[in-house]
Amino acid sequence: KKPPERQLHQTRAACLKCMLCTETCPRFLLGHRLYPDRLMRNLAAGISEDLPAFTGAYLCSECGLCAVYACVMGLDPCAANRMLKQRLSAAGVPRPEPLESPHAHHYAVMRKVPVRRLMARLGVVEFDRPAEKAKLDTGATRRLVLRLKQHAGAPAVPVVRKGARVSAGQPVAEPEGDRLGAVVHAPMAGNVVEIDQEAVVIDTGS
Ligand code: SF4
Ligand code: SF4
Repeated sequence: KKPPERQLHQTRAACLKCMLCTETCPRFLLGHRLYPDRLMRNLAAGISEDLPAFTGAYLCSECGLCAVYACVMGLDPCAANRMLKQRLSAAGVPRPEPLESPHAHHYAVMRKVPVRRLMARLGVVEFDRPAEKAKLDTGATRRLVLRLKQHAGAPAVPVVRKGARVSAGQPVAEPEGDRLGAVVHAPMAGNVVEIDQEAVVIDTGS
């Protein structure tokens, strides 16, 4: 990660104003008013009056595509957006009003990024191979600790009692009411030997 001053210096020296970052940006292609090329051009030229280009940073999802795929000069509009978001927010600059009905760009479908090429840019092609699966000894006794909170939502609530026999795949905890959450299933058959606020524990040997 380069410090902001270094990135600014590189932007001044190297940005071609080619617009490739904007033409590739998924948020721009979906119709949002986000123009990373304008932002980079403004930073390069020291222009501060183009407020819509700066506040567009709020709309950046920080996917990084402009930096790792689009920019032929190795610049990082994503990092510039991130930095700007922090500074605009600290200065109390409001976010742009959302568009009532954003229209996707005419060429959005044609500008999808080929996954293999993106993988090549990221240097991860060699890792795209079938994973070796460890053999599971289903005969061995196991104590399975099934956490009730495995995501950003609310913890699941146990729906089994201590001592209950559960089969493989049976739900042991479910989200409460309409709260955001996920059902927790027993990965193997066994007996419920422990339940607390954190987890349901299954003994597969008993
Ligand atoms: S990081 Fe932001 S500006 Fe860059 S492509 Fe993704 S959404 Fe667009
Ligand atoms: S793709 Fe790179 S060189 Fe082209 S406008 Fe964007 S930041 Fe500048």
